[in-house]
Parts: sequence; structure tokens; C-alpha cells
Amino acid sequence: VASGKGGVGKSTVAVNLAAALAGRGLSVGILDADVYGPSLPTMLGLSGQPAYVDGAIVPHVAFGLKAMSVGLLTKADDAMIWRGPMASQAITQMLTQTRWGTEEAPLDVLVVDLPPGTGDVQLTLIQKTPLDGAVIVSTPQEVALADARRAHTLFQRVNVPTLGLIENMSGDVFGRGGAEAEAARLGVAFLGDLPVDAGLRQAGDAGEPLVSAEPDGEVAARFAAVAARVAEGLGL
Ligand code: ADP
Repeated sequence: VASGKGGVGKSTVAVNLAAALAGRGLSVGILDADVYGPSLPTMLGLSGQPAYVDGAIVPHVAFGLKAMSVGLLTKADDAMIWRGPMASQAITQMLTQTRWGTEEAPLDVLVVDLPPGTGDVQLTLIQKTPLDGAVIVSTPQEVALADARRAHTLFQRVNVPTLGLIENMSGDVFGRGGAEAEAARLGVAFLGDLPVDAGLRQAGDAGEPLVSAEPDGEVAARFAAVAARVAEGLGL
């Protein structure tokens, strides 16, 4: 899950998308690779360094999701001053040394919350992470969409298919429909839109994905629709 800009709701979408994929009966992990601002500990209520057993990192489990974050490996404030190689090394370690699944019970999908932007850190991470597809989150305004376009271009350069665009904070303040039009221009799928929703923000701050807290709510239904399209794009 990527975005051109920060603050567009990439982490909120990543967490709720992961929960919605789990709601489809899939075994799901989530890796917070956002070195600039790891949000997963807050959004899933995680704290404490993960255990290290038999040479493997044991991920936290929250709301049925196996979860790891750069914010759990170091003090959150430290992560953002990491240089590219350090960030890349930490992500690689979390990817390869975490016991995401076992042979009998492998993960079906690992959602990676990437850092926002299209700089060298992102490029290295994307190249080092064997990704099956990218989900790009944008708000509806042109300034955000221009950056979403750049994110798509970055994924094209490294041969990662863009599964589609998601419009977040869709509605009165920022406008509506920008991401859908952009997806059509780029020739990628439009995965769905999510309104500005106070409950979504409150649930994130409280450490529980809204999809888990209110599985029968309107927002959960929207994420379920997005998750169905993402699962289809991944052939799951
Ligand atoms: P990013 O990962 O892109 O930096 P976050 O997911 O951390 O963005 O979201 C930034 C802030 O906006 C958070 O406080 C989050 O709760 C809030 N937020 C995200 N999406 C929505 C939405 N659709 N409605 C209301 N608040 C939202």
C-alpha cells in the first residue's frame, strides 16, 4: 500500500484493508515499512519489542493480523532519520526473519505499508521487497493525484503491477471522483472510495481497525468491496 503524499490515509487504508482481507477468511500479515512515520503500533495498539525465538522474530498478533512495524524495532522517533540503506536493511530483516507463517499454515497475503513518496528509500524498498501488486491511496485533489501518478510510474519502472487506486477522504471538502478519473487515465483499476469519517479516525487513534470494531458498518462494507477487488487482483 503506497501513496505519493503523506497524510492521505495510507496507513488507515492498509490496516483496514488487512482486516477486510482477514474477514474474507484469508490468513493476513501486515508489515509497517513506513520509516518516516510508523503508525501501526498506534493503529493496532501494539507495544513492546517482538520476541526473538529460534532465530526468528515472533510477530505481534492483533485482531487476527500478524503485525510487525519499524516502530517496534526502534524508538519511533528514531526511524525517520534513518538513511536509505539502514531503512532497507531493517525492512529486509522484518520481511525475512519474521515468522509470518509456518509450512502448515502459511500467510495468504502480507500487506506492506510503504513509506509515502517516490524517492530513493522507496525505490530501494520496492526493489528489495518481492511485491505482487501495488495499491495506491490518494485523496481526490490534483496535488495528491499528481503524486499518485508518480507512485504508479515508480512501480512500473520496477515491474510491480498497480492493482489499482483508492480514493480516501472522498467528499465535500476535497472533492470526489478525482482518483477514479485518474485510474482511468492510467489504465488501472479503481478499487473504491472511502468518505471522511470521524469513526475511522477515532478507531485508528484508539488502536482498533474500524473494520474490526464495526464489522457491520458502512465503512466496513466499503473496505470489504475494496478487499474483494484486491483479492481478485492477486488471484486469491
Ligand atoms: P498516512 O499513512 O497517509 O500518513 P494516516 O493513515 O496516518 O495517513 O492518516 C492520517 C490521519 O488522517 C490519521 O489521523 C487518520 O486517522 C486520519 N484519516 C485517514 N483517513 C481518514 C478518513 N477517511 N476519514 C477521517 N480520518 C481519516
